[in-house]
Amino acid sequence: MTDEHGPERVTAEFREVYGTEPGGVWAAPGRVNLIGEHTDYNDGFVMPLALPHTCLAAASPRTDGVLRLHSGDVPGGVVELRVEELAPVAGGSGGGDRGGWAAYPAGVVWALREAGLLTGAAGGAELHFASTVPTGAGLSSSAALEVVTATALNDLYGLGLTPPRIAQLCQRAENAFVGVPCGIMDQMASACCTEGHALFLDARDLSQRQVPFDLAAEGLRLLVVDTRVKHELGDGAYASRRDACEAAARALGVRALRDVPFEGLDATLAELERLGCDAATRRRVRHVVTEDRRVEEVIGRLDAGDTRSIGPVLTAGHASCRDDFEISCEELDLVVETANAAGALGSRMTGGGFGGSAIVLVAEGDAEAVSKAVTEAFGAAGHRAPRIFPAVPSAGARRL
Ligand code: ADP
Ligand code: MG
Repeated sequence: MTDEHGPERVTAEFREVYGTEPGGVWAAPGRVNLIGEHTDYNDGFVMPLALPHTCLAAASPRTDGVLRLHSGDVPGGVVELRVEELAPVAGGSGGGDRGGWAAYPAGVVWALREAGLLTGAAGGAELHFASTVPTGAGLSSSAALEVVTATALNDLYGLGLTPPRIAQLCQRAENAFVGVPCGIMDQMASACCTEGHALFLDARDLSQRQVPFDLAAEGLRLLVVDTRVKHELGDGAYASRRDACEAAARALGVRALRDVPFEGLDATLAELERLGCDAATRRRVRHVVTEDRRVEEVIGRLDAGDTRSIGPVLTAGHASCRDDFEISCEELDLVVETANAAGALGSRMTGGGFGGSAIVLVAEGDAEAVSKAVTEAFGAAGHRAPRIFPAVPSAGARRL
């Protein structure tokens, strides 16, 4: 996770790949989301924290409009592109990284140019990446890769972009260039989180508050359980959930589901039924509206200095993801059931769903027994052993 020799290593690797010294080294973290799942694209609330796992980039600008990309984490050598020729294929590269991993950083350069921030040959660069964020584990390795690219180019080209603006441009890259219809949470988390805090974010206006999240002071630990599965279903299901939410908002005549008040939820659901909205869509609405409320509840409890008491709210969030939004899977449910039965204070899936990771809030003294119980349950069910590590709230993107 934290790799204290990382900067020297990526510098040496950059030298080996490109034969020159890099202009600098940058880092951007992965994240876990404490609460607020699939609420960001509904203009709602989220509460992620950055992990100590980061994507590092060593980088230099080029004056000839050539963009050269290399990752130590994927085979295949240097990808060379011309910045003037960067263009998204219709509908992005078709979802995920089917256009190749380089679509993420290339998409960032494209987004900076599309926004008029880089003109002519500007945007040319040599970048070498090395990441400790597990990929495809729901911990936002893709956002870390985008945000580290944008942060490096921001410095190299003196663009003066703020972290939220960087996040928006990275989301644009992932949506339009890579072709993944993600919300803004992952990029905002990677760009804006600070050490020792969770980030309370309003995805509508990007207003944010750093909420102190000192687990150790309360004798607590937040475990990340990476199930190491990613069910194929995920990509299409994400888009279909998003479509259902947008259709329901249109039917209700509101800008986004964030505008549906929790207090009138039952009446709203009855109204949707009357309007001919199917039962699945009504469950999606119930998830989003109750999830926004759960974020506010968690904030209230953290502000009151009672981190312990957020446990049941996390578990309720999982039930809502599982039953109403229908984005969980056998492995994620097994983590939650097993961890809670073994003495965890609460747990839930985190990230887009259909695999990836869960988080488990546990008293420090119970962490080992809970981890062991989860690992044993995975073994008994015939699943590969999960990867379990503590989530330490860490810093957002920065120059090292
Ligand atoms: P997640 O963001 O949850 O890890 P995604 O599917 O959104 O999962 O993004 C994973 C993809 O991001 C990888 O398949 C790869 O294309 C790209 N990626 C992430 N980290 C790196 C890296 N260090 N080097 C190259 N590509 C990376
Ligand atoms: Mg991602």
